[in-house]
Amino acid sequence: MSFTLHGIPVSRGVAIGHSHRLNPAIADVPRYLIPEASISREVRRFRTAVAQVERELHQIKRDLPEKAPAELAAFLELHELILHDPLLADAPAALIRTHRYNAEWAITTQMVEVIGQFETIEDEYLRERGGDVRQVVERILHALIGSTAILPQYDATAAAEMILVAHDISPADMLRLRDTGFAGFITDLGGATSHTAIVARSLDIPAVVGLQNAHQLIAQGETIIIDGDVGVVVVDPPPLVLEEYRHRLSEIVLERKRLRRLRNMPAQTLDGASIEMLGNIELVDDVDDMVEEGGEGVGLFRTEYLFMNRATLPSEEEQFESYADVVKKLKGQPVTIRTLDIGADKTLGGSVDKDAVVATNPALGLRAIRFCISEPLIFMTQLRAILRASALGPVKLMIPMLAHAHEIEQSMQMIQHAKAQLDARGQAYDSTIQIGGMIEIPAAALSLGLFVKRLDFLSIGTNDLVQYTLAIDRANSSVAHLFDPLHPAVLYLMALTIQTGQKAGLPVSVCGEMAGEPKFTRLLLGMGLRQFSMHPTRLLPVKQEILRTDRHGIEAQVRKILRAQEPGKIRELLEELNRM
Ligand code: PEP
Ligand code: MG
Repeated sequence: MSFTLHGIPVSRGVAIGHSHRLNPAIADVPRYLIPEASISREVRRFRTAVAQVERELHQIKRDLPEKAPAELAAFLELHELILHDPLLADAPAALIRTHRYNAEWAITTQMVEVIGQFETIEDEYLRERGGDVRQVVERILHALIGSTAILPQYDATAAAEMILVAHDISPADMLRLRDTGFAGFITDLGGATSHTAIVARSLDIPAVVGLQNAHQLIAQGETIIIDGDVGVVVVDPPPLVLEEYRHRLSEIVLERKRLRRLRNMPAQTLDGASIEMLGNIELVDDVDDMVEEGGEGVGLFRTEYLFMNRATLPSEEEQFESYADVVKKLKGQPVTIRTLDIGADKTLGGSVDKDAVVATNPALGLRAIRFCISEPLIFMTQLRAILRASALGPVKLMIPMLAHAHEIEQSMQMIQHAKAQLDARGQAYDSTIQIGGMIEIPAAALSLGLFVKRLDFLSIGTNDLVQYTLAIDRANSSVAHLFDPLHPAVLYLMALTIQTGQKAGLPVSVCGEMAGEPKFTRLLLGMGLRQFSMHPTRLLPVKQEILRTDRHGIEAQVRKILRAQEPGKIRELLEELNRM
């Protein structure tokens, strides 16, 4: 049965494929014996998970759109019945008490037992209900294990046809999924600038997030269309719709081919200003995409992705090798290496996280430079590795999430100390390496005097600048509609930063998602921006916009936008600007 879902578009284009639901793989759940003294706690843990699933099912039922087919409600009721059946609700607790199984082991053992009974039923309809038992158990496992899905193994050819359907995907899991080559993904949770969305965008695969209960409504193997431009997902599309989207898909391929002709053209405005076009990368191999799309260097290397999906921290040597590989691949083009930005929606896995406290507001907690200053050994190791790479080519070092002068001063002292350690070892580095800071917190943008006199360059992280200016969690789909890069307060802070940097003779770039959106290109040029850093896949569409722009011709219109306060007026003026 065909139906359409609306969410938040995070990565453009159209994908057509078959749904592949991401669930915790039952074979992968941890199995261990718990100590006698922990039995009551483990039973409570199990009961809490069941209660959580009960609430989830209830909420999904309550939020079902009026037009949702009646079968969906019936299907949810069936899951509620299964959840409350003593075979799943009580028997696992008995296994925990008598066998000392951990909760995950107990529920999967019981599931195998129950599904086995279903398989002996002759009636086909009833036999298939074993699949529903499995889905309910997967939900309980999800509640026990946490939000991060355990990923199954994929076959590469099947992946090209695959649309991943998940409740949520963590940035770390998205990283692990990158190489499977799937066609697109959709999730219930998430916002347009969540780090999961950013990694997806770097893959250039269509994606829609914040779909509320897609994961519940979409079955395995259904035909799905993702329209990543507008945030629409069509499930089981009628033939005419499918044909229309196949046509769109071929047009997109043609448009990409057309844009490729701009690859070797310098990014120059009609009035002759040269604009620097840089790429954002997460992993070493992303440099190839940047080069492929005609980028002039790396403006943001998000190094934290080297620290994810592993049990231990990367050593100085391992980090040095990664940074050195990037420098070598760039063959003389510059790279800005950002120090570890861990925290908020990006967490370290394995033993590294074992002491982490659960923060009430992680985005406001021990993130980025705050984490690094509190973990000097981790920070110093990274600083030495970056400095050593600077001996091999043009490297700049950038510090994220600065707000206080003392954070810059402490960072500078630690950089000095790292240099002294390398001197003592006789290891080379660029003694004049430029140190820059990210402007991501309104307080930083409003006290730029502190920054321009201590740093060599600035980079505006618009994803966080919007998040912190508007107090909108960038990863939270419930407030995603309030995440507005065109809010007058955001535009004011951006223009202020670019202009203050210019007056002080300090280069300023924008490396947040706004830099890669052609609809903002002219606005940013009009603010005086000369350095853009974005996902490699966005370089050519933005370059096309730069080539069409006469900066003198747009000055007055950009001033009007910056003076405007009403959201409707700002959008209207922006549309006019882009038509000029
Ligand atoms: C930003 O905040 O805009 C940015 C570029 O950094 P990140 O998205 O990694 O937080
Ligand atoms: Mg940021």
